[in-house]
Amino acid sequence: MLVLEAADSVGGGTRSAELTRPGYLHDVCSAIHPLVAGSPFLRELPLERHGLKLIHPPAPLAHPLDDGSAVLLERSVEATAAGLGRDANAYRDLMTPLASTADDLIGDALRPLSVPRHPLTMARFGLSALRSATGLARGRFDGERAPALFAGAAAHSMLPLEKPATAAFGLVLALLGHAVGWPLPRGGSERIADALVSHLTELGGEIESSHAVSSIDELPPGRATLLDLTPRQVLRIAGPRLPAAYRRQLEGYRYGPGVCKVDWALDAPIPWRAGECARAGTVHLGGTLAEIAASEREAWAGVHPERPFVILAQHSLFDSSRAPEGKHTGWAYCHVPAGSDADVSERIEGQVERFAPGFRERVLDRSVMTARAVEAYNPNYVGGDINGGTQDLRQLFTRPVPRLVPYSTPARGLYICSSSTPPGGGVHGMCGYLAARTALRREWGIRAPA
Ligand SMILES: Cc1cc2nc3c(=O)[nH]c(=O)nc-3n(C[C@H](O)[C@H](O)[C@H](O)COP(=O)(O)OP(=O)(O)OC[C@H]3O[C@@H](n4cnc5c(N)ncnc54)[C@H](O)[C@@H]3O)c2cc1C
Repeated sequence: MLVLEAADSVGGGTRSAELTRPGYLHDVCSAIHPLVAGSPFLRELPLERHGLKLIHPPAPLAHPLDDGSAVLLERSVEATAAGLGRDANAYRDLMTPLASTADDLIGDALRPLSVPRHPLTMARFGLSALRSATGLARGRFDGERAPALFAGAAAHSMLPLEKPATAAFGLVLALLGHAVGWPLPRGGSERIADALVSHLTELGGEIESSHAVSSIDELPPGRATLLDLTPRQVLRIAGPRLPAAYRRQLEGYRYGPGVCKVDWALDAPIPWRAGECARAGTVHLGGTLAEIAASEREAWAGVHPERPFVILAQHSLFDSSRAPEGKHTGWAYCHVPAGSDADVSERIEGQVERFAPGFRERVLDRSVMTARAVEAYNPNYVGGDINGGTQDLRQLFTRPVPRLVPYSTPARGLYICSSSTPPGGGVHGMCGYLAARTALRREWGIRAPA
C-alpha cells in the first residue's frame, strides 16, 4: 500500500506546530477528539502501543453564561443534569436512554445510511435527532442553561440550528461526552497521525510526502485507488475517468461556511469568571441558544457575525508538553462565510474577554488563519469548510452523491474516502475504513469481518 501526500508531512487535519513562539505547540486544525475515542475503527487499532496517549480533562465541555456561572457537560448524565436547574429531569429523560446504549448508537451513527444494526435504539434516537436543534431544545427544556449547552454542541454542524437534523449533532456530541469523553492527545493532535503512520509502516505500508497528485494518470498502476479528496478535487484529478452523469452529480456537491481560527501563546491560564471552566478541555462561547442560533444563521447567510459563536480549547491546562513551564496555549475558531479572507480575531477575543475579563492582557502572541488561509493550508477545506461539505439532511448520508455504496465511483477501481463520504467531518477514520472495506470486497473479493 502506498500513501501519496502533497504536504511535507502527513496528517492532514491532525498536525501540530509552533505557530506562535518556540516552545508553544498548537494544533493547526483538529484539537479535541471524542470521535477518535468513539470510533469503532480507531478503537481497534493498537494506537497506544504506537505512542498515542489521550488525556481526559475532568469535564468534556464548559459553557459560560453572562450571569457569571457556567453550564458543564460532565462525564455522567446525572452530574450534568444537576447543573441544569429546572431542566435537570428533562435532560435526564433525554440522555439516559441514549447513554445506556451509547456504543450501539455511536457505531450506527458513524456509518452510511442502511438498515441499522440496532433498529430499536436507532429509532428512539432518530425521533429526536431528526428535529432541528432549536425545535428539540425549545420543546424539551424550559430554562436557559440546557438549551445553551445543547445549542453549542449542535453548532458544530456549521448549519443554521433551525434546520432539520441539526439536533443529531448536539445529541451525538453530548452522548460522546458521557460515553467516551472529549479527550486531547498528549503532545498534540499530530500524535494521532504519528501513531497511524507507525502502525501502517509496521504493516508494510509506504508513505511518500511532498507528492502532490495533479492527475490520476500519474499514479503507479494498482488495483484500487482511494482518493482522500472532496468532490471538487476529484473532478480536477480524475474527471476524465468519470462518466458525465456522475461528474454532474459531483459538480452539484455543496460546501458550507468556513472558519477563522486563532492560536494564542499565553502568559497565564485564561482568567474565566466562572472558575469551573478550567475543568474542561473545550469551552463554548456564545451565551444563549438565541444568540448562538443567530451567529450560525449569519455565517450561513454570508455575514460575519458581530458576536460569533466561538469554540475554544485550552490544552496546556491538561498537557504540560504544549507550553513552557508556567505558560499556556489557547486554540479557538468561529464560523465565517465560505471563502472569507477576513481576520475576525478581534471579535473572537471579544467573546473570550466577555467571559474571562483580563484575557487580552495575557496574550503574548497570536497566529490567525482566515478561511482562505485554512484552504491554502489544506485544499480539502474548500472555502474553509472543515466538514468536507455541507452536512444537512440532504447531504449527510448521501455524500458525495446519492449512491448505494457511496465510497465507490462508476470508474473501476476508483474510490473516495474523505470526509465528503459518510459519516462526514471529524477525525474518526471511518470514511477511510469503510472505503477500504468496499475496495477489498469489490477488487479482491475479501469480506473483512465487521
Ligand atoms: C480549524 C479546524 C478545527 C478542527 N477541529 C476538529 C476537532 O477538534 N475535532 C475533529 O474531530 N475534527 C476537527 N476538524 C475537522 C477534521 O480535521 C477533518 O474533518 C478531518 O481531518 C477530515 O479528514 P480527511 O481525511 O477527509 O481530510 P484531511 O485530514 O484534510 O486529509 C486530506 C489530505 O490530503 C492531502 N491532499 C489534498 N490534495 C492532495 C493532492 N492533490 N495530492 C496529494 N495529497 C493531497 C492533504 O494535504 C491532506 O493531508 C477541524 C478542522 C479544522 C480546519
